[in-house]
Amino acid sequence: MILGSRAYCREAAREYDFDVEFAPVEWEVSTRAKRRAAAVKRPKIPDAEVGDPIDWRAAADRVGSSPEDLRTCTLSLTWAAFESFDVGEWTTTLRHELIHVEQFQRYGTTDHGPAFEDRAEAVDASVRCPPFADPKYVLTCADCGAVVGRRYRECKLVRQHDQYRSSCCGASVACSESGAE
Ligand SMILES: [Zn+2]
Ligand SMILES: [Zn+2]
Repeated sequence: MILGSRAYCREAAREYDFDVEFAPVEWEVSTRAKRRAAAVKRPKIPDAEVGDPIDWRAAADRVGSSPEDLRTCTLSLTWAAFESFDVGEWTTTLRHELIHVEQFQRYGTTDHGPAFEDRAEAVDASVRCPPFADPKYVLTCADCGAVVGRRYRECKLVRQHDQYRSSCCGASVACSESGAE
């Protein structure tokens, strides 16, 4: 998942002309349920402002860090979102996060202000952090109860879950609708 997402980001950086350096970007997969499909974790830098290019060396001196450490951010990808989004939704999510990385690397901080809106329009990404809700359908192994899948909308797996076998026990797959509203 990280390999594929990272490869896409490099491709998108060329295609959409992102001014992003990938060396100081770390990647992680979050398996805990989150409200966001992805997020950029970054150090808080005092006085950093979008629109005001940052001097990394001066900023690092101020906070007693090295420019390399301070400039490192982490792109955190939510596993369940990756699993449930279709390709288009996922790549839109990645482009949204790339804008955050681009802003952080240039300004030392990032937000969803007017500069972000302009950029989002240019790279065909949403302005808001892609939302991510609890899955509507949870598929479990009928034998051991292990969760074998989560889906956010009806799909073939949900409709025809009785035709699937769980990979853990080779048992039938039960589908429950969670938080039905
Ligand atoms: Zn965002
Ligand atoms: Zn099982």
